[in-house]
Amino acid sequence: MHHITALSGGVGGATFLRGLLHGVRRGLVPGVDRDAEVTVVANTADDIWLHGLKVCPDLDTVMYTLGEGIDLERGWGRRDETWNAKDELAAYGVEPTWFGLGDRDLATHLVRTEMLDAGYPLSQVTEALCRRWLTPTHGQAVRLLPMTDDRVETHVAIADPDSPSGRRVVHFQEYWVRLHAAVPAEAVVVVGLEDSSPGPGVIDAITEADLVVVPPSNPVVSVGTILGVPRVREAVTATRAPVVGLSPIIGGTHVRGMAHQMLTSIGVEVGAAAVALHYGARTGDRTGGVLDGWLVDVTDEADVERVRRAGIACAAVPLLMTSDEATAAMAAAAVSLVS
Ligand code: GDP
Ligand code: CA
Repeated sequence: MHHITALSGGVGGATFLRGLLHGVRRGLVPGVDRDAEVTVVANTADDIWLHGLKVCPDLDTVMYTLGEGIDLERGWGRRDETWNAKDELAAYGVEPTWFGLGDRDLATHLVRTEMLDAGYPLSQVTEALCRRWLTPTHGQAVRLLPMTDDRVETHVAIADPDSPSGRRVVHFQEYWVRLHAAVPAEAVVVVGLEDSSPGPGVIDAITEADLVVVPPSNPVVSVGTILGVPRVREAVTATRAPVVGLSPIIGGTHVRGMAHQMLTSIGVEVGAAAVALHYGARTGDRTGGVLDGWLVDVTDEADVERVRRAGIACAAVPLLMTSDEATAAMAAAAVSLVS
């Protein structure tokens, strides 16, 4: 296997991809060339405009993680970050004050916004930013593609007794960062998704891959939105490559993040098998699901049979991404499952 394509969100996806690359380059992933090319199709539905700047949290998390610029402890944003601009904005009383806009990170958003204003699509802007972060370490072997160049935004409906409808809709970032996903998400609405088009290279990356991987990313607001871009799900159902996923749910809840709340909001049981069934088994036709294989954690061994009965190859292996070595072993198990 030489061409690997992954559908990634932010922290879960990026951490997986770093471990995958670690394993591939050391020949630890059987069946995959050491110089394999990895294309990351990243979620952009978390994107938000703040203080006139376009912020793309998932693209940046992948870019900084694979470019060794990430703050490992937080899992997002730049290492050695300072927060002077954020504090100054707050001192002016400018809203929103809840978003973690670091000084170093700001430079990325400034460059991105300047290029967007000059008329470049997000895909070209991302390519330009990645020349700093990915090219020095990975050459041309790792590409980061926004799922779409169009504006798509995930919004979450929450209960609001003060509103005439009894509900209020907030941007996904507000739900997650300001409200800490502590109130139930009554619905998830991805504004602009149905009218969006796949970004340049996205469909080809899926169609021409030797392997498609669904990392342990949020099934609703990361992978779900990517698959919701028109023609993307069809490309995954139809590709000649095997498609394998790894469960972000371990022991009935997410490891970190808010997959629990998101799955509940769309009526999917929070479990390793239930997420696989939600993705569905590939049948080769467009009405089928997207998975040939699915890994669950060893604590969810009891889920394996249920996944297999749905027509998806399944195995239980340790799925905690505690180190690049541990994650590389997960990647190797995922590849073995479908090859
Ligand atoms: P986000 O955009 O930053 O929320 O990141 P993703 O959507 O890519 O990933 C979030 C998901 O990663 C969450 O649902 C977590 O359950 C999952 N996750 C985080 N760490 C781990 C881990 O060590 N193992 C597994 N299996 N899943 C993880
Ligand atoms: Ca995200």
